[in-house]
Parts: sequence; C-alpha cells; structure tokens
Amino acid sequence: MIELNNMIWDIIVIGAGPAGSTFAREISKLNKTVLVIDGQTAEKSKPCGGLLAPDAQKLLAHSDMILPKDVLVDPQIFSVKTMDLGTGLTRYYQRYYMNMDRYAFDLHLMSLIPENICITEGRCTGIAQDDGLFTVQVHQYGDIAQFKCRNIVGADGASSIVRRKFFPDRPISRYTAIQQWFAYDGQEKPFYSCIFDRETSDSCSWTIHKDGYLLYGGCFKSEGCREAFELQKERFEAFSGIELNEPILTEACQACRPKHLRDFVTGEGNLFLIGEAAGFISPSSFEGISSAIFSGKALAEAFADSNVSASYSRKVRHLKYKLYFKTWKRAFMYTPWTRKLIMKSGISSIKVSEKQENYEDDQY
Ligand SMILES: Cc1cc2nc3c(=O)[nH]c(=O)nc-3n(C[C@H](O)[C@H](O)[C@H](O)COP(=O)(O)OP(=O)(O)OC[C@H]3O[C@@H](n4cnc5c(N)ncnc54)[C@H](O)[C@@H]3O)c2cc1C
Repeated sequence: MIELNNMIWDIIVIGAGPAGSTFAREISKLNKTVLVIDGQTAEKSKPCGGLLAPDAQKLLAHSDMILPKDVLVDPQIFSVKTMDLGTGLTRYYQRYYMNMDRYAFDLHLMSLIPENICITEGRCTGIAQDDGLFTVQVHQYGDIAQFKCRNIVGADGASSIVRRKFFPDRPISRYTAIQQWFAYDGQEKPFYSCIFDRETSDSCSWTIHKDGYLLYGGCFKSEGCREAFELQKERFEAFSGIELNEPILTEACQACRPKHLRDFVTGEGNLFLIGEAAGFISPSSFEGISSAIFSGKALAEAFADSNVSASYSRKVRHLKYKLYFKTWKRAFMYTPWTRKLIMKSGISSIKVSEKQENYEDDQY
C-alpha cells in the first residue's frame, strides 16, 4: 500500500469532474505518478442540467466510450421549447442532447480511471510553492493531510482554488447558478425549455424533466440573484401556466462566463488549468462538459511533449476561439430585438403539435 503523503508525485490533479477524470484516464498511458483529489459526494454533487450535447457525444465517440443506461434518465427529449417572457414568443428547435444523471456521469468517468492513478477524497484548502515543489493541503476524514508534487493540474471548476491562488490577476466573470427540483405532477408533457427574461437575467434559464422531477434553473448576476430567481419563476408560471409549488431541493454554484480571450487561462510553468477552471465553457449556453473533456485530453497529450505548457496552449487554441466567438452569438441571442427578429422569422425552428391537456390519459 502506497503512503500517499510520503512521496513526491509527478502530478496532483485537483478535481475529478469531466475535465479531471478525462485527464487522469489519458495521462495513465504515460509513466507518471499521479494523485487525483476530489471533494464531490452524493450530498454535495455538482448542480448541472445534465444534458450531454452533440460535441461531448462526439468526444466520447472519439475515445470509443460507451454510456451505461443507469447514467441516463427518463425521458429523452428531441426539441427545446424556447420562450421569451418579454415578447411572449415561443418557438421549438430540434436538439440532440442526451438527458443524464450528472452525478452518475461523473462517477462513470471516474470509474474509467485506471488503477495506476491514485484517487483520494478530500477538499484542497491551500497550495504552497517552494523550491520547484508544490505542497497541497487537503481536508479529509476530519483531518488535514499534505501532499507534495512537481506539477499541479487545476480541474476544480468554476470556483477554482488553483486559479484564484496562482492567477489572481486573471479573474473571470461569474454568475450564480441556481437550480431547484420539483416533484413532477405528470400533468403537462415533459419538455426542455430555454427561457429568456430580460427583467430578471441577461442569461437564459431552463426547465428539464428527470426521472419524475422537474428542474428549473438559471444563471443570475450574483447581487440579488435569489430575488431575481424567485421573480423569474413567478413570471414563468404566469407565462406557461405551469405551477412549480414547493421545491424539494435548491442547489447553487458559480458558473463562469468568458467574455474576452484573456479569460481563458491554461497555466504556466508547472501549473495547468483545464475545464471550467481555465474558463472553458460556452458563454451563450453554459454547455461546458465537452470543453472539459476536450481540454483534459489535450493536457494529458501535451505531457508527452517536452514543453508541456506550449503544447497544451497550442492544442486548445481553437477551443479558445470557438468559445470566444460564442460571445458574439451570445450578443445576438441576448439582445431583445435581434432575438425577437430570429424567433419571429422562425428560422431553424420546427413545428410541434402541442397536446398538453390530459397528457396522463394519452400516454398509453
Ligand atoms: C447549473 C448548471 C447547469 C449546467 N448544465 C450543463 C449541461 O446541461 N450540459 C453541459 O455540458 N454543461 C452544463 N453546465 C456546465 C458544466 O457543468 C461545467 O462546465 C462542467 O461541469 C465543467 O467540468 P469541470 O470538470 O471543468 O468542472 P466540474 O464539473 O465543476 O468539476 C470540478 C470537480 O472538482 C471538485 N473540486 C472543486 N474544488 C475542489 C477542491 N478545492 N478540492 C477538491 N476537489 C474540488 C468538485 O467537487 C468537482 O468534482 C452547467 C453548469 C451549471 C452551473
């Protein structure tokens, strides 16, 4: 049995979300000693819509990966109902997401990390750098442990301690994401929705059905976020006729919103950032799983090269530009008059025969 804190690791990875798990799986092919530290538990799991977008599905295909059915939830839906609460417009668009249990997805990715990579539970609370070595302080099992390493990979998401500690001059704009779970009463047909409401948020919100629950979530400016969320739910209820009642669960976390190219930070020296910690998330849809997987794999591959930093930066250059160009898409989507124009024109929308009444009676 290895004493985890008696050795100097080649690499310590902080966080085992999609970015950290992908990095760990891929780096296992190189001859490195790697420790992954992760603080996620069933009780404190990552709030997420849990939709696997086509880009993420394509990356799984490239890695020849499969998803067991217990990662998926009921139902799978093929369109998104886009509602603009300000103009009263509604349109349907075809979508190709997979509806998942996000925690089960993270556990599945972790289960694919080979045994030559060590994983330990705990919350990293501090990192010090001295003489080319890092000392990582971790709260685990009611105690404090310390681990030493030569390279740090920050895969610790939107509130990354690695980014805050080592790149304080590269802050990124963040929203507070709030998501609530409601018992689904089976009255209306399950649907995904994308909700625009400029009165309460300059981002979109969503509803998603999952295994007997209806989720309502959105991203809000941190100041006054809870009031904005509550007001938006009321406006949504009035618009859609759907009553949300008492939530069973309320979750919240930070979500990054890159605005400029400088918001993407891949690291320097022996410090690296992947996934949302690096700023890799779509500023228009907040889809981030594909970028997390892509950047995790890119960094692992870069470790095979002599200049890891430069190689990693090269490998994610097009991802940075792709996400940066989404800030333009965002400007288009979130400006009320351009959105109205697009929705009114019906471009790319599909016709859906809505039959919400007596949905329960019609199911079989
Ligand atoms: C409400 C919401 C809904 C979203 N919906 C979708 C969606 O439907 N589809 C989609 O593609 N994207 C979605 N996103 C974005 C997506 O969830 C993230 O971009 C993606 O999870 C980023 O992956 P990651 O591995 O970089 O970070 P994360 O998934 O955040 O993983 C970070 C990991 O690091 C751990 N960690 C953090 N800090 C520490 C620490 N100090 N010590 C130890 N461990 C630590 C965490 O426990 C976690 O396991 C959503 C985001 C939010 C906020």
